[in-house]
Amino acid sequence: MSAVEQANGQTARAGETARSAEYAARAASVIPGGVNSPVRAFGSVGGTPRFFVRGSGAAVTDADGTEYVDLIGAWGPALLGHAHPAVVDAVQEAAAKGLGFGASVPGEFELAEEIIARMPDVERVRLVSTGTEATMTAIRIARGATSRPLIIKFAGHYHGHSDGLLAAAGSGLATFGLPGSAGVTAETAAQTLVLPYNDLAALEHAFATHEGQIAAVITESAAANMGILPPDPGFTEGLIRIAHAHGALVITDEVLTGFRASAAGYWGIERPSMPEGLRPDLFTFGKVVGGGLPLAALGGRRELMEMLAPLGPVYQGGTLSGNPLAVAAGLATLRNADAAVYDHLAAAADALAVEVEDALTAAGVAHRVQRAGTLLSVLFGDYPVAPANYDDVLRQNTDQHRAFFHAMLAGGVNLPPSAFEAWFVSAAHDDSVIGRIAEALPAAARAAAAV
Ligand SMILES: *Cc1c(COP(=O)(O)O)cnc(C)c1O
Repeated sequence: MSAVEQANGQTARAGETARSAEYAARAASVIPGGVNSPVRAFGSVGGTPRFFVRGSGAAVTDADGTEYVDLIGAWGPALLGHAHPAVVDAVQEAAAKGLGFGASVPGEFELAEEIIARMPDVERVRLVSTGTEATMTAIRIARGATSRPLIIKFAGHYHGHSDGLLAAAGSGLATFGLPGSAGVTAETAAQTLVLPYNDLAALEHAFATHEGQIAAVITESAAANMGILPPDPGFTEGLIRIAHAHGALVITDEVLTGFRASAAGYWGIERPSMPEGLRPDLFTFGKVVGGGLPLAALGGRRELMEMLAPLGPVYQGGTLSGNPLAVAAGLATLRNADAAVYDHLAAAADALAVEVEDALTAAGVAHRVQRAGTLLSVLFGDYPVAPANYDDVLRQNTDQHRAFFHAMLAGGVNLPPSAFEAWFVSAAHDDSVIGRIAEALPAAARAAAAV
């Protein structure tokens, strides 16, 4: 056991952050900002970013021994709760048989079959390691299939950190107030048109202006990286109609919402009301599909997916793609995420939304609870009409969020350290867990009110 592991075994007094602070300093001396993904640094909320040493069910424990109710859920993968025995067993069993062979393993087609069984518009699947790769590859297929250069994305939508998709990208960029990223060439940036979300007129206009040039429209099936912001009724349908009328493909990014917003993602919620035959062309998945290990996927119609090497001219590959531990974790997660789990997640999200509404209303804090299936987030500020796009969301009161966030943390609830991220419940968030969150809410609501 290392010195760090020994220290983590000792329980400290609740509320103490000395060890996390020490670790943060030590990390910052060897890792830029002390983190391997920016939002973890607590940059927009301030204070000591917590180092976590354990998670079980709905609870996570930090390095100082404080236990929190977790509403981050590893940013989605912990659908069944942390360290779910079925997932841990599956990974341990796979690990004992070898960590990877650089050759195919049966779990890869089993996971692809599981994805296809849930997503009726997906005929072929390719496994990759991150959501970033999934969207990057989907775009490469779209350009390969159409021989067109341009991509449309919506402001506030996050599709990972590939060069062409970082403009007005929500998530960590929204958290840190960045319009885009340095290091992206003007030529690359110019190949992505950024449009306001939920605005079909702007989409029509872009297609008219760039006729024959647009390969694909990429959209989060429900925006979830600027807080939750679902598509307006009719938007998804209009988007697919317009794109297809102009010979462009539609890439529906379900990396966050997939197998989470419902068993078949947010598309699974919208699909029943869509006209027959009106379908996105490609889908991307991540987060839940890897069960907590590095795995993501893309899928779609056979003729498009078979443009990928080795069958077609669009190249994609990966040393760790379809890694046996990752497919085992993903398979165990999806196989255990049955209808009862999704009913439970929906009920937990509903109950949590009511508790948050009640506490903020009682404290006189103007707010909106945003929903997309089992996902939720909270917007602080006056929103007499529902927000429709990134500009609307950027008007929120992030000072109130900061006060609320820290009071919840002090009350034992681990919320996303950003006003622009979704809250994630799990199958382990039962009534007693929601009750613990409810106990922390009044003080947090008063802290927000005092801003
Ligand atoms: C998280 C996310 C990504 C990127 O996935 P990574 O695994 O972090 O690369 C892409 N799209 C959406 C919608 C996401 O939420």
